Amino acid sequence: MSVTISQDQERRLLDSVPTGLLIAGQWRPSSTGETIDVHDPSTGDLLTTIASASPADGEAALAAAHAAQEGWAKTAPRTRAEILRKAFELITARADDFALLMTLEMGKPLADSRAEVAYGAEFLRWFSEQTNRITGRYSVAPDGAARLLVTKRPVGPCLLITPWNFPLAMGTRKIGPALAAGCTLILKPATLTPLTSLLLARTLIDAGVPDGVVNVIPTRHAGAVTGPLIKDSRLRKLSFTGSTEVGRRLIADSAEQVLRVSMELGGNAPLLVFEDADLDKAVDGALLAKLRNGGEACTAANRLLVQRPVAEEFTRRLADRFGQYTVGRGTLPDAKIGPLVDEDTRDKVDRLVTSAVEAGAKVVTGGEKVPGAGYFYQPTVLTDIPEDAEILREEIFGPVAPIVVFDTEDEAVRLANSTEYGLVAYAFTSDLNRGLRLAERLDTGMIGINTGIVSNPAAPFGGVKQSGVGREGGLEGIEEYLETRYVGIADPFAGQ
Ligand code: NAP
Repeated sequence: MSVTISQDQERRLLDSVPTGLLIAGQWRPSSTGETIDVHDPSTGDLLTTIASASPADGEAALAAAHAAQEGWAKTAPRTRAEILRKAFELITARADDFALLMTLEMGKPLADSRAEVAYGAEFLRWFSEQTNRITGRYSVAPDGAARLLVTKRPVGPCLLITPWNFPLAMGTRKIGPALAAGCTLILKPATLTPLTSLLLARTLIDAGVPDGVVNVIPTRHAGAVTGPLIKDSRLRKLSFTGSTEVGRRLIADSAEQVLRVSMELGGNAPLLVFEDADLDKAVDGALLAKLRNGGEACTAANRLLVQRPVAEEFTRRLADRFGQYTVGRGTLPDAKIGPLVDEDTRDKVDRLVTSAVEAGAKVVTGGEKVPGAGYFYQPTVLTDIPEDAEILREEIFGPVAPIVVFDTEDEAVRLANSTEYGLVAYAFTSDLNRGLRLAERLDTGMIGINTGIVSNPAAPFGGVKQSGVGREGGLEGIEEYLETRYVGIADPFAGQ
């Protein structure tokens, strides 16, 4: 369904979004009066201005989360579950607002934003269901002389730091399990896209989240505001999604108080197409894995490895489909690729393409910035890329598909694994045994077989190597917010 969005609709929505910091259940201005200007990446125009938290505001948010922790942990699981379920329902009811807001601040087409609303809301439903399934065990010690009671309890106040590329889902993927487990939290959204988090915060309050349980502090000073929190003993957990570079620094900072961390970091996903693959499915899968979210996804296929006998045909078909993608403001009904999020991101994509071409790569389609306002880049297919080219090592984060030809399965596995990242890999083959061999040999936390998308709230999302530690979603996701408590009990029958 394509609907034309009017400027009035955009303005009304923007005017309805809270502009303050959420601390202890109150919307407040920054203690320093500092603000953040939020821009539309498709025009560069100012959308709105919101409060920017200071270190003192960060401290107040932690004090609020700490004060609310005991009460929230004691709140009956069923009550926590029903609040999360209500939040899921409210987001679903407000899906059009969430989708438009994401498109305005992040740029992706409305269809991508709607898909993210469904995906992001689902984390709250999934974890509302998990809330009542936090269990422990009681057993007899092997020698019969003691009883062993094992329980789970919330880790305590959490700091959640999220990136700009999925403004709703990166928040709910952490907030869902944290609240389900009984943890209070402070959310620090990305400076480029804080509006979705503010609307989410209001929705969580509307769903019944008590004061102080959820605190939201956008800030222009990420390091200065979160640094002291990470070193404060009242904070018990850091969950970060973002670049490997920042993640590494946060792990080092967390060492001081041996803070529990979860890290969802960068990726460099290989997508393998074998000669026995169904090429229609492989092309569809590659389009999804590469161009969903404009290529601005940690799961985006970064290297398309194609077996020689089908390489030419696959490249031709993929390039044809790339050429049919309309680039435009995400609110336009026919836009399939929005702008990149800012000029720096577009410059990086352009630099990677230019340096690959200088090293001998051929441009099959695209290859340039789109002139005019906004940070648009042409959907691009490259071939003949030298193995050591930067574009094969760096996360591209844009609509660029570098195609590399291979001959054997062993070579494909070697190329796929030759990266410091290990988030996800995709493989297209009609040979079941080959699919299973790849599932065992590819060095990633997630593998898609004959599919270009693996994200699912009921599945454990996360990477190995420098793509991070920990898992979000699935049965595993809530464990990141729970501690195991063991109580040793003397034999109740002793002396009877
Ligand atoms: P980023 O620059 O690392 O920023 C991520 C978040 O960290 C933002 O909220 C940012 O705040 C904050 N931050 C930056 N420096 C910080 C510091 N010194 N201390 C505390 N917080 C700090 O990453 P990004 O450019 O927003 O996001 C893209 C990256 O995220 C890509 O590498 C992508 O692969 C990764 N990602 C990973 C996953 C996953 O699940 N594995 C999912 C999505 C994205 P500011 O906005 O104020 O800079």
